[in-house]
Amino acid sequence: MNSYDVAVIGSGPGGYVAAIRCAQLGMKTAIIEKYSTLGGTCLNVGCIPSKALLDSSHHYEDAVKHFEDHGIDIPGEIKVNLEKMVARKQSVVDQTTGGIDFLMKKNNIDVYQGIGSFKDATHIVISGEKEEEIEAKNTIVATGSKPSSLPFISIDKERVITSTEALKLKEVPKHLIVIGGGVIGLELGQVYKRLGAEVTVVEYMDRIIPTMDSGLSKELNKVLKKQKFTINNSHKVKSVERVGDEVVVKADNKKGEEVELRGDYCLVSVGRRPFTDGLNAEAAGVKITDRGQIEVNDHLQTSASNIYAIGDVVKGAMLAHKAEEEGVFVAETIAGQKPHIDYNLIPGVVYTWPEVAAVGQTEEQLKDKGVAYKVGQFPMRALGRSRASMDLDGFVKILADKSTDEILGVHMIGARAADMIAEAVVAMEYRASAEDVSRMSHAHPTFTEAIKEAALAATDDRALHV
Ligand code: FAD
Ligand code: NAD
Repeated sequence: MNSYDVAVIGSGPGGYVAAIRCAQLGMKTAIIEKYSTLGGTCLNVGCIPSKALLDSSHHYEDAVKHFEDHGIDIPGEIKVNLEKMVARKQSVVDQTTGGIDFLMKKNNIDVYQGIGSFKDATHIVISGEKEEEIEAKNTIVATGSKPSSLPFISIDKERVITSTEALKLKEVPKHLIVIGGGVIGLELGQVYKRLGAEVTVVEYMDRIIPTMDSGLSKELNKVLKKQKFTINNSHKVKSVERVGDEVVVKADNKKGEEVELRGDYCLVSVGRRPFTDGLNAEAAGVKITDRGQIEVNDHLQTSASNIYAIGDVVKGAMLAHKAEEEGVFVAETIAGQKPHIDYNLIPGVVYTWPEVAAVGQTEEQLKDKGVAYKVGQFPMRALGRSRASMDLDGFVKILADKSTDEILGVHMIGARAADMIAEAVVAMEYRASAEDVSRMSHAHPTFTEAIKEAALAATDDRALHV
């Protein structure tokens, strides 16, 4: 039987990064993955394919709607070739998952294909083409998550679909009904909206992206409406029925009146649930909470002291970069180091266009905690860079402590916000004040000038270009 210092179960961004860091630290490492490709949800059916389709659909929309404004005339009709678009997405996925195979080889990590189940706290049975057993002094569980649904919905994977099917549709829906105005619903909703679908979002809360700062929800709602999305906030879905090639969704609006929607596809994007099926966690003494998450302490250690858990299967944001940080954290903990993660500084991004990105505390959170804060906000449309590319929507908002000026939260919506948020993370990691950021030179013309201007506005209400 092969014996390891560390076995990692699950090869998503949490698992494969943990395995690499363990190997870097000199530990003999194995990784177990039930699917034939490595990379987990993120690389196979999550972050990477969704961004590939967002990019392709963005190019199409630009060609149809904006090339003319830039003085580019295209003779003839511009058409979507969905089959080719989906094939390009798949080739991006294949290259990326192939890259993980390479990294495993480079770091001498043994890869096992099959379902990993605990026999006890130090033995794992792998059921793949053959059944194998390995011994591991330590195990890192990184089994991720699966789409969740509502009890009365039957996901048929044809017309009533999750994100996984939405990434490989064979036709552009005529009318896509999206249940859940969160990250998946809006990103994939925007893909199909750009490709010509009518898109109706049905959201239970009173605003889309309800966990982000309400200013971002409001601005994104406004922009999506301009893009001709129909958004029904404060709607409680009560039934989803497939009738032939149609899907009928019934929901109660805020006034309690029934609203009926008919579409040809319905994307259910109401969140994801932690995945532990087949793991046989009990055999190792690993506790699972009522919410289905693996219970961990501050060191991400489970109720079995040599077993750790990371990523979507434990508490916290379900984000690839959060899973990665936890992978490194646990590897270094096992190696006897004292790593640290500041969960407040894990950024959140929605890759719609305009992009939405945030880090730190929202205004709602600061109000709840009774923190005295000041706000500096700057509109993207006041930048020369925004006018040059005609990306005028959005703003950057900086929240800073009223007395110390320390930056407590940065919330932005606009072109390239996904990349710009990194500056806010660095600033907050070093506990910068708004004035610190306002005194740093930002290249002109760039979208990042909005961060400097918002910092100036927060410091002393002295933005220069409004
Ligand atoms: P996962 O990536 O889910 O990987 C878990 C792996 O474990 C899977 O490969 C699974 O097959 C394997 N596994 C499970 N049980 C066993 C077992 N018993 N034995 C062997 N293998 C097992 N996050 C972002 O940060 N940015 C984004 O842009 C983004 N976009 C997304 C878009 C979509 C459509 C979706 C669905 C998600 C997106 N996410 C995004 C979320 C991101 O994918 C997850 O947060 C991330 O993948 C979690 O990583 P993980 O390692 O915890 O688990
Ligand atoms: P989410 O939590 O982002 O959004 C779910 C939405 O559904 C929420 O707005 C919620 O209020 C709504 N909802 C819940 N129950 C409902 C009901 N009964 N009727 C109507 N609406 C309802 O979840 P998601 O969009 O499914 O994404 C799942 C996870 O994947 C998220 O945790 C997210 O972090 C991750 N993800 C991240 C990215 C990214 O980082 N860009 C992209 C996609 C997914």
